[in-house]
Amino acid sequence: LIQLSIPLNFMGMIYREVKQSLLDIGQMFAVLDQAPEIRDAPDAKPLAVTGGAVRFEDVRFAYHPDRQILKGVSFEAPAGRTLAIVGASGAGKSTLSRLLFRFYEPSSGRILIDGQDISRVTQDSLRAAIGMVPQDTVLFNDTIAYNIRYGRWDASDDEVREAARLAQLAPVVAAMPAGYDTLVGERGLKLSGGEKQRVAIARTILKAPPILVLDEATSALDSFTEREIQDALAAVSRGRTTLVIAHRLSTIVNADEIMVMDQGEVVERGTHEALLAAGGVYAGLWNRQRRAEQALQTLKETGEEE
Ligand code: ADP
Ligand code: MG
Repeated sequence: LIQLSIPLNFMGMIYREVKQSLLDIGQMFAVLDQAPEIRDAPDAKPLAVTGGAVRFEDVRFAYHPDRQILKGVSFEAPAGRTLAIVGASGAGKSTLSRLLFRFYEPSSGRILIDGQDISRVTQDSLRAAIGMVPQDTVLFNDTIAYNIRYGRWDASDDEVREAARLAQLAPVVAAMPAGYDTLVGERGLKLSGGEKQRVAIARTILKAPPILVLDEATSALDSFTEREIQDALAAVSRGRTTLVIAHRLSTIVNADEIMVMDQGEVVERGTHEALLAAGGVYAGLWNRQRRAEQALQTLKETGEEE
């Protein structure tokens, strides 16, 4: 957190000067990669994406030398498949996505996309291949259309509208005072967390990258919003290699594989059914969430009767 806050403050400064240059996690990385420690290798070549298979090989990582965060993580997300990553807060899930985007370098081990070590390819080509829907999306102080088009600047108005529709954002825009010309962001119309995440999804639909990383917001959205976001995510992840970092387990029961992390290690892998049957960490998480949801439901029903 300390490491992050310095560049973010720095970005805040630049932001006021060059309004349209930054924003959104992807571009943050683009700015931060100017930091001396992460440079293109002298012989770096563009990443050649074939199917978009992602592979971590015994990846170790620490933000600070005295505290190991990832303790040898290995997994593969086959091309076009969905791998869900779950586990307690602080397990290292978001760190995996930061390493994949090469925001940081592993201290040892390798990360490969279609067999190519990401530390050997150009960062531009790497980041062009990955679409990120982060936990918290930052909006430009500009129109909603501009904010969606950020995914691909040459997108036509029709493409922007179609992306908004797929991202379940169209009804939100329809309710805005000036439709697609409505100013949003801190100095315009403020959007809720769920709405901002749908903007990020619309951007990603326009970008149409072979690899997607979805980091679900931790905050409990109401189940209606949650359902809409799930539908939007399902639309965008179809046919793409998808890593989904999930907090609500009900959203990932259909993932091709679920990987459970605990304190920087992969402790379980399998399908939803297999992991439930195994009765381990995942089954424990699942049962706890089910009980919590049922309790909430009972509470709501009692409230409605009054
Ligand atoms: P998760 O996404 O599973 O909740 P993270 O990958 O965000 O977990 O974080 C894993 C661990 O790394 C946590 O203990 C967190 O406090 C720590 N951490 C995350 N980001 C930083 C950072 N920029 N600097 C130092 N420690 C960090
Ligand atoms: Mg996280």
